Amino acid sequence: MPELPEVETIARGLAKRVTGDVVESVWLGQKKEPLKSPATEIAATLERSRIAAVRRIGKHIVFDLERSDNVGRTLMSGKTGKPKAPRPGSKLFAPTAAQWIVHLGMTGRMQVCEPETEVEKHTHAILRLSSGRELRFVDPRRFGRLSVAPAADFSAGGIEPLEVDLDRFVTLFRGRKTPIKSALLNQTLLRGVGNIYADESLFRASIRPRRRATSITREQLGKLHTSIKEVLKEAIALGGSSISDYVDANGDEGFFQLEHRVYGREGEACLVCKTPIKRVVIAGRSSHYCPNCQK
Ligand SMILES: [Zn+2]
Repeated sequence: MPELPEVETIARGLAKRVTGDVVESVWLGQKKEPLKSPATEIAATLERSRIAAVRRIGKHIVFDLERSDNVGRTLMSGKTGKPKAPRPGSKLFAPTAAQWIVHLGMTGRMQVCEPETEVEKHTHAILRLSSGRELRFVDPRRFGRLSVAPAADFSAGGIEPLEVDLDRFVTLFRGRKTPIKSALLNQTLLRGVGNIYADESLFRASIRPRRRATSITREQLGKLHTSIKEVLKEAIALGGSSISDYVDANGDEGFFQLEHRVYGREGEACLVCKTPIKRVVIAGRSSHYCPNCQK
């Protein structure tokens, strides 16, 4: 499953390629699962909208849209032909008024391609852009989700881990009786920290994943606060690490991988002290740690 750094990488790649483009028409597939908003609503929101920005919120890719409501919109998807979209930057576009939200789920990916590129199996959405290219959403396992927020008010809940300051961070975890690992995965606290980066951050902060959050000192929470940001930033710098089969916004396969110090290394020697890495299951998820380095 793509984690925060991968989603950040994909969102940046998409931003570079489609910002300023205008959605001319939308085709949506027959499969219901990927559509979290009604198909007609998604099509109506996207068509004739200008992509003002693409960014990551939590693990979602959010397209900020500028609407051109003064121009008659085509409400039906699929058989729109080629309506003329207003020029990007033209006065016909209202300020940001809607959002398209994409969650990649397990296997979802976004493609920016030429229209003649063969449509892959499991393509659930095709946006025809005024630049002549297409933006496609492909998802074999269909855990990905597409939705629209007509009022541009999408919120992923929780606090952005790259922005949270130390005081806020400490308040989030203080007094929680759950294992720190579960608290890190709780998306209503921090949004977007997944299993891999939680394990890696805890290793760097020398904290065992099963430690109750409430028993961790402020100083240790300070270390954890730093290590989460470090791990995420390193992974973003490397283009996100991935163990899943998706491609980035350029259609490139795979990512450079941040060297995992504990994640997925059960039984292998700790890179610091050579103690075999242990794996335990906490709240249904595998957790990896060094029993010597982490207390
Ligand atoms: Zn160790």
